[in-house]
Amino acid sequence: MWLVFAIPGLLLGIWAQIKLHHAYGNYSQERVDSGMTGAEAAREILDRAGLANVPVEEIPGHLSDHYDPTKRALFLSSENFQGNSIAAVGVAAHESGHALQHQAAYGLFNFRMALAPVTQFASMAYMGIFFAGFIFSAYFHTLITIAIVLFSVMTLFQLVTLPVEYDASRRAKEQLFRLGLVHEHERAGVSKVLDAAALTYVAGLVSSILQLLYLLTIRGRR
Ligand SMILES: [Zn+2]
Repeated sequence: MWLVFAIPGLLLGIWAQIKLHHAYGNYSQERVDSGMTGAEAAREILDRAGLANVPVEEIPGHLSDHYDPTKRALFLSSENFQGNSIAAVGVAAHESGHALQHQAAYGLFNFRMALAPVTQFASMAYMGIFFAGFIFSAYFHTLITIAIVLFSVMTLFQLVTLPVEYDASRRAKEQLFRLGLVHEHERAGVSKVLDAAALTYVAGLVSSILQLLYLLTIRGRR
């Protein structure tokens, strides 16, 4: 039965990864007219927003790009830091978008940030408690209920992540065009890369919801 709940999410996840791979693959070959690298575009967006104190640093890994709110720093993968493609500039602007959310004290961004340590704890404890439920079957009901609560926290985190990601992309595109870092004919490319990246978060949320339904189902059956 677990498979019935797991397979749709898994397939959606694979489809989202393929789409991202294609979009990123295509637009990382296409150079932006401005010739700017991802690092330069991020720097420009941050400086213009009064965030000169937020450093832009290069890190290893493929699509490892992120904004770290605790360090108030932007980390770009080498490909996007050094690259001057539509994909590189788009991703760099998206990560800058998170810094802009932080600066604006955007409610959902703050909520997500507050939820992060709780989610980290929940994801560590969840697996252990889930399996303990099957081993100590006398306590199955209690343990599976705790597992459901923990998993709900993880799912809530993913739910909050979605609007935060779409908002960061919206802010990114706004700044890219306002500052003239990307031209009109490059707009579609930026959107395709960022939408494909957001789709992986949608897939993650769908699998979590299905997993949660699975947990509720097995709890109801026993
Ligand atoms: Zn993001």
